[in-house]
Amino acid sequence: MEGFNYEECIYQGMDLGATYNIDYTLFKVWAPGQQEVKVIVYDNYFENDGKVYPLSKGENGVWELRLEGDHKNKYYNYVVKSCNLELETPDPYTKGASANGKKGMIVDFQSINPEGWENHKIPEAVRPTESVIYEMHVRDFSTNKTSGILNKGKYLAFTELETENQEGLATGIEYLKELGVTHLHLMPVFDFKSVDETIKHNYNWGYDPHLYNVPEGSYATNPYDGKVRIQEFKKMIMTLHENGIRVVMDVVYNHTFEVGDSPFDILVPNYYYRTYHDGSYSNGSGCGNEIASERPMVRRFIIDSLKFWAKEYKIDGFRFDLMALHDIDTMKEIEKELVKINPDILIYGEPWTGGDSLLPYEKRFHKGVQKGSKVAVFNDDFRNDIKGDNDGTSSGFVNGGLHFEHGIKKGIVGSIDYDQWIKGFTLEPIETINYVSSHDNLSLFDKIEKSRPDITFEERVKMNRLALSIILTSQGIPFIQGGTEILRTKNGDHNSYKAGDEINGIDWSRKNKFIDIFVYIKELISLRKSQRVMCLEKAQDVRKHLKFIDSPERSVAYLLESPYKEDYKYIFIIHNAGIKEISLKLPFKGQWKVIANEHEVKSTGVSIGIRSFEGEVNIKAISTYILCKE
Ligand code: CA
Repeated sequence: MEGFNYEECIYQGMDLGATYNIDYTLFKVWAPGQQEVKVIVYDNYFENDGKVYPLSKGENGVWELRLEGDHKNKYYNYVVKSCNLELETPDPYTKGASANGKKGMIVDFQSINPEGWENHKIPEAVRPTESVIYEMHVRDFSTNKTSGILNKGKYLAFTELETENQEGLATGIEYLKELGVTHLHLMPVFDFKSVDETIKHNYNWGYDPHLYNVPEGSYATNPYDGKVRIQEFKKMIMTLHENGIRVVMDVVYNHTFEVGDSPFDILVPNYYYRTYHDGSYSNGSGCGNEIASERPMVRRFIIDSLKFWAKEYKIDGFRFDLMALHDIDTMKEIEKELVKINPDILIYGEPWTGGDSLLPYEKRFHKGVQKGSKVAVFNDDFRNDIKGDNDGTSSGFVNGGLHFEHGIKKGIVGSIDYDQWIKGFTLEPIETINYVSSHDNLSLFDKIEKSRPDITFEERVKMNRLALSIILTSQGIPFIQGGTEILRTKNGDHNSYKAGDEINGIDWSRKNKFIDIFVYIKELISLRKSQRVMCLEKAQDVRKHLKFIDSPERSVAYLLESPYKEDYKYIFIIHNAGIKEISLKLPFKGQWKVIANEHEVKSTGVSIGIRSFEGEVNIKAISTYILCKE
């Protein structure tokens, strides 16, 4: 392998992997530098001795075999020789697998697809800023006994309709519909390694990829038979789609669980990962290795994989883990290819790395690089200004911090260059994912408790609500960590990636306990979706239609003037993070209708508290007020 010139060995074909036909299966694997490549075909997942066939070396490092006959849903692996040792590995391109990804699978999707899959109804496109993203882990959604869901911890949990908790309130899909989120963002559902699929109740977030093009097996009712996970995964997507919910996949193309004996390293040693001269792996992921996206066949793999999920599984968006480990050209290519498949596809990710990387800083897709693209990035500036640091005791705007008004204003305008004082990192508001918490770190409510042990429970609840109110009224794309609207707690665990169902599972009884907050957030989402001026797409429109109004310390106020007939003409939004009531002069004379106060949000006008103001408005402590005028 020494001295092999991979750059001269680039394969342009579209058919890597095992392509099934009724009369033959075509195997193609890129493995330049190998002296011999064989395929072992197993009749089923439990067979130990398969039939071995040699592949022949074609052009550009691709080995291939056309194997005659019908090999529908059989299993296969490749075997290569290394130092006189035979190494067997699944194909990184495989579309199916046996338990724990031990064997790949020759997949005939037509024979596996659930009934109605091909023509099922996909929700109509929404503008990016009209999206409301809701992050969820497959197990967390259903494992808690309060879920009322039968298929606990499984893909099929997302196919159960009309489920409810013990008190009779909707859970599961009905809950998502009720809340009004547009996109369900699923934490890793590709095949990952940290969970033994044959053991029940094993828990991990799954940011440790094994086979990128295969659904994770532990979420299937049968992890052994590769058909089951494919079918159940598609049933999940189909049911969500049919209920108006689009699906975003959380993808981790920045590192793999293993190196050395990973499929990538066995087939093409020293190619897929960034390594130092001494052969050691660069660790920009913080997980032991990082994938070299800038190399043509690595980029190729990532793009092929994304296209596969978008087409075969009709995925509506992708969230990129540690996106700054991807080089800029790769991300541009990803955007170009995905938009071709679906112009409305959502693409966003973390604009940072998890450690020092060999990828030069100027090549990384970090915050600011996304300017002018359709790739949005998580807005950690806004997040920190709202709540303080992730896991410590510091406070931001909502939980008692001082001098965060400016930061909040930057977030409210979608982090664009708004004027000479308010400047951000985006060109357009569609480039920011506005969020206050996600799976990493303390849940919002735990963070508020940690930073403010000195105040009452009720005050902390108000702070949680205010933080979400800011996210949902700001320009940009709002993102909610699942459960934040019912004050999700993980008992102060800031890194619960393997803490199990007890800590991580959604406790659906909290919906009853905090029904006021749930309804408040639900109504706020509904208001946002009904007022186009709250989800502007262009920076020039934000500059034109959003004006800040002077307000006391620890508050931020602004006026939206809508150019859209279907909106209220004027919407006046005030976030008061202070512990005292404040008074503010209204921007214009006449009656202003209150559509949000400290009690409720109601787009037709509140029913509790003062219903309209003239001249001046009084805003209660730690609350958002929204007033409107025709
Ligand atoms: Ca797995």
